[in-house]
Amino acid sequence: MNSSLLRQTLHAANLRATAARMAVLELVRNASTPLSHGEIAELLRDGPWNRTTLYRNLIDLEKAGLVRRTQLGEPVWRFESTAKEHGVRSHPHFLCSACGKMVCLPEMTLRLEGARGCRKAIGQGNIEVQVRGLCDACMGKRGI
Ligand SMILES: [Zn+2]
Ligand SMILES: [Zn+2]
Repeated sequence: MNSSLLRQTLHAANLRATAARMAVLELVRNASTPLSHGEIAELLRDGPWNRTTLYRNLIDLEKAGLVRRTQLGEPVWRFESTAKEHGVRSHPHFLCSACGKMVCLPEMTLRLEGARGCRKAIGQGNIEVQVRGLCDACMGKRGI
């Protein structure tokens, strides 16, 4: 994503296009998996911004609807892009119980239908679904 497109995206969301915000948005958009604040800080460690600045920018992007925040059975928040190419809607995630790596699953992997008597949030898709297991790499390591 080029910088003028990043700037346009931020302006369209009523955010100022600061260098830190552009860097955070670009990183999250290019990532194929949800990233934690720690991972984002690590990936941008060569930049002139401290962890607090990066965190504040993540929260600004979340409030503006450009990133989605998920917390899936662990004490860390993870952030992912809400751009079309990543999946605008909320989708299930797979968390490896051995290495902690998280990947996005296609929406269709798991389909929940709202049924009589179940919570409204399920029918509206207003839920977070997490599947846990061993990722391919960890299965390989264990010779499964
Ligand atoms: Zn794993
Ligand atoms: Zn995802």
